[in-house]
Amino acid sequence: MTSVPPYHKIRRIAIMKGHQVGYTEGILMNFLGYTISHQPGPSMIVGPSEKNIKKIVQQKLEPMINDTPVVRGKISHFSRTTSRNTIIHKDFPGGFLVMCGANVAADLAGTSVKYLLIDEVDRFPVDTQGEGSPVELAIGRTAAYNRRKIIMGSTPTYEESSVIAKWFEEGDQRYYFVPCPHCKHEQRLLMDNLVFDKNNIDAGVTYKCEKCGELIKESSKTMMLEAGIWKPTKEEHISETFRSYHLNALYSPIGFLSWIDVAKAKMKAERDEAYAKTFQNLYLGIPCTQAADEFPSANALYKTGGKYEEGKIPTLGGVTPKFLLAGVDVQGDRLEVLITAWHRKICFVVEHIVLWGNTNVDPHESPWLELTDVLKSKYGDYGITKLAIDSGFIPYRVFSWKRSVVDHHKRIQVIRGVWDMDGIISYPKIMEVSVYSGKKSRVGNKYQDVNTHFLKNEIYKRLLIESDEVTDTHIFFPKGKDREFYEQLCSERMVLPDAHDPMDRTGRIRYRWKAVRERNEILDLMVYNFAMWYGCNAAKYAHTDDKWSRFVEIKSFTG
Ligand SMILES: [Zn+2]
Repeated sequence: MTSVPPYHKIRRIAIMKGHQVGYTEGILMNFLGYTISHQPGPSMIVGPSEKNIKKIVQQKLEPMINDTPVVRGKISHFSRTTSRNTIIHKDFPGGFLVMCGANVAADLAGTSVKYLLIDEVDRFPVDTQGEGSPVELAIGRTAAYNRRKIIMGSTPTYEESSVIAKWFEEGDQRYYFVPCPHCKHEQRLLMDNLVFDKNNIDAGVTYKCEKCGELIKESSKTMMLEAGIWKPTKEEHISETFRSYHLNALYSPIGFLSWIDVAKAKMKAERDEAYAKTFQNLYLGIPCTQAADEFPSANALYKTGGKYEEGKIPTLGGVTPKFLLAGVDVQGDRLEVLITAWHRKICFVVEHIVLWGNTNVDPHESPWLELTDVLKSKYGDYGITKLAIDSGFIPYRVFSWKRSVVDHHKRIQVIRGVWDMDGIISYPKIMEVSVYSGKKSRVGNKYQDVNTHFLKNEIYKRLLIESDEVTDTHIFFPKGKDREFYEQLCSERMVLPDAHDPMDRTGRIRYRWKAVRERNEILDLMVYNFAMWYGCNAAKYAHTDDKWSRFVEIKSFTG
């Protein structure tokens, strides 16, 4: 891509791509190698997560440095890491390189960069702890440089939220035209022109020239890629400073993805509707739409509305739940509590409470004091059997509060959400917690990991049920909850965590959840409640009314 070198006047480049097209090596590493040796400046790479950045450093950056003597000679032998080892620095004459995940990009306030390289932007979190969009934050760091260059590349995700698709649309939409080895006709490589035997893909895959119809062997690919040319397809968007590019997986260099791999994925997408979207993102390199019926609609839930009064145990369809759970989310300025009541698998939201006040305070002060009152409150004859509280924000305060509720602390379960664990809830573990003196404390800091991936899936499956009947997998809501409540509940979508490496060891596609709006506390609170339902072993007793009655007798808190 001729506009990539730093001396070119193009300031902004967007590359929407299929996976394994060599973006990290071919664009990011080449760009860095060039600037470090010829036109150094403050540079930054931001990826969706710390894990993703560490992988780039180990698998792409270190080899590039080691294999390029002119670069190797300039890079300081020492990498510095700051901000609890999450930001990696490398120094060289005339500049530096900082690398970090989008989640800590806000920690870089004050760092100004000339070259900004953004990897897998569609997998960025929407908001880093209330600081605003991490993409915007990163771009803001280049404001001081007139000759800045921003390179953003990503495999796209969903149309509604895709940043890369938006940038691509805004640009001049360049596609790569490669010559046919037979007739020299320049053409875009398109999925429909792959030729193969569906029943025996391994026998070989060729490409049919759109002009002469001759079959092209994959062995010609390297030659074709070398002789190719980028052509803008959106004339009216041609700009002096901004270009957008597209590459699908057919352009993957030899040694990455073969046409056989692509043909196999194409066949799988034809058989499997869910995989078809993955195929669109990873192989075609285009965003997919989210079918309306795949995820619950906040609007629909809001319109259906609640069925009973908030703050009381309901009776609905002859069912009165007698087993209560609660989830607590800790934010800097408030505690949010969601209380649910259960009859076997049926979940009734009883009450949503927000306790305002700085949470970085002693447990005998507000809002922790009020949280103790909530824990001790009764709904009719019943109290909360288990209250799950997220340790995430300020673990030290959460554990202090738990210890302060001397006579009831057994009903409190400190939890931590984890998306890639086995099982639903882990055995209790001990957390090392920094106390204000700077020392670490381990005493009594027991917590359990909960599988947010599984639980969100479970909750969304249930929210999709349209029937009004009190069936065993329903979730019911009280009257009067506002639209925001349901928006937060329906705020996440499934995306691939890592487009470089979408499959796990067993070949399963690894999805994770991503917020499509800034606030999602209600969904988190629901997850904590569901975690406690599983944590109390309720699933084992939920099959029959008899078993459930015995369970309620033993487990329900009536003290
Ligand atoms: Zn041809």
